[in-house]
Amino acid sequence: MARQRVVQRKQTVAADEPHPHFPVTDSAVVPTPFDSNDREIDEALRPTSLSQVVGQSKVVERIRVMLDATMKRGDTLGHLLLDGPPGIGKTTLATVIPRELGVDIQICAGPAMQAPKDLLPYLTNATERSVLFIDEVHRLPAAVEEFLYPAMEDFRVDIALGDGLNARTINMQLKPFTVIGATTRAGMLTAPMRDRFVYREHLDFYEELDLVEIVTRNAVKLRTTVTDEAAEEIARRSQGTPRKANNLLLRTRDFATLGHPTGEITTEIARNALDKLEIDRLGLERQDRRYLETIIRVFNGGPAGLRAMAHSMSVPPDTLEDDVEPFLLRSGLIQRTPRGRVVTEAAYEHLGLTSPSDSTGPGTLF
Ligand code: ADP
Repeated sequence: MARQRVVQRKQTVAADEPHPHFPVTDSAVVPTPFDSNDREIDEALRPTSLSQVVGQSKVVERIRVMLDATMKRGDTLGHLLLDGPPGIGKTTLATVIPRELGVDIQICAGPAMQAPKDLLPYLTNATERSVLFIDEVHRLPAAVEEFLYPAMEDFRVDIALGDGLNARTINMQLKPFTVIGATTRAGMLTAPMRDRFVYREHLDFYEELDLVEIVTRNAVKLRTTVTDEAAEEIARRSQGTPRKANNLLLRTRDFATLGHPTGEITTEIARNALDKLEIDRLGLERQDRRYLETIIRVFNGGPAGLRAMAHSMSVPPDTLEDDVEPFLLRSGLIQRTPRGRVVTEAAYEHLGLTSPSDSTGPGTLF
């Protein structure tokens, strides 16, 4: 029941209001690598207006146009799908948009919506032009998805009552509202669901400069100082992901509190902290390196299927696919082939291992 309270919490927010504190998803159903304390800080550091959103300039520009046009027409914003790896800013944009529009937001998570009756209160509570944010929208069960279609298309729900001879369906009209869906797996969304989103935006990994700005701004919010070079070091090892940058800022701050008279995060403290945290110069964490080593040692460099990898590492396949693989793919350390994952020469080099073939590509290694 606590879960329901969390996700049903509703609020009216206006742009530039102080940020209210509310949990976004239920960790019991949407696993995140963070404990509740980290999530709280995550919330405290979250931008509260579009102008505070760093990077993703093309996406932000397009969202600005969507919002301005919607407000000028006095309309309801079209449904919007945000996709991208975890910690990249999907929830941030989804919470900033209703603030900019000055409308209500309700937040729920796909996996918590087990049946249409779980979603119904959100739909009937939706006020005019408000936003319903559905995190992990690709994990809505089929029956819930089908229930959502008429709500998205015609702002109507069809409720089945009774059964047998007494069965009947009543139609309930809803207020016009906007669904903002977030997904780490756009490919897993069904075509009819995807088609119901008027706008679709993909959020990609951030440039280092943007992460430097995020680290520097958030250091101010945390009332700590960080040298330019230390901010660069943190940004460089954050896997292009703001949530990781925030997390590393917090971890290095701990080291600075203990290791510097004024608590300043110096380059030396940052480097030392990141080394102690076993985050290497590319930003890989222990689990990332374990992934590469497993392909190399257990599967001779690949190809290795996702399930086989998950078994060997005793890690859920979803965690590998959502949290580990996107950055390894993007860094060119692994490739996905129809037969499975293979490591590249760059992975051998990064781990300081000798590849079976130094001069040929991964395709010819095996
Ligand atoms: P997602 O929903 O994609 O998993 P979030 O939106 O929760 O990611 O982002 C995680 C944290 O990273 C946020 O709390 C916020 O502090 C920070 N963040 C994300 N995107 C940005 C951005 N564009 N500018 C500044 N901070 C950001």
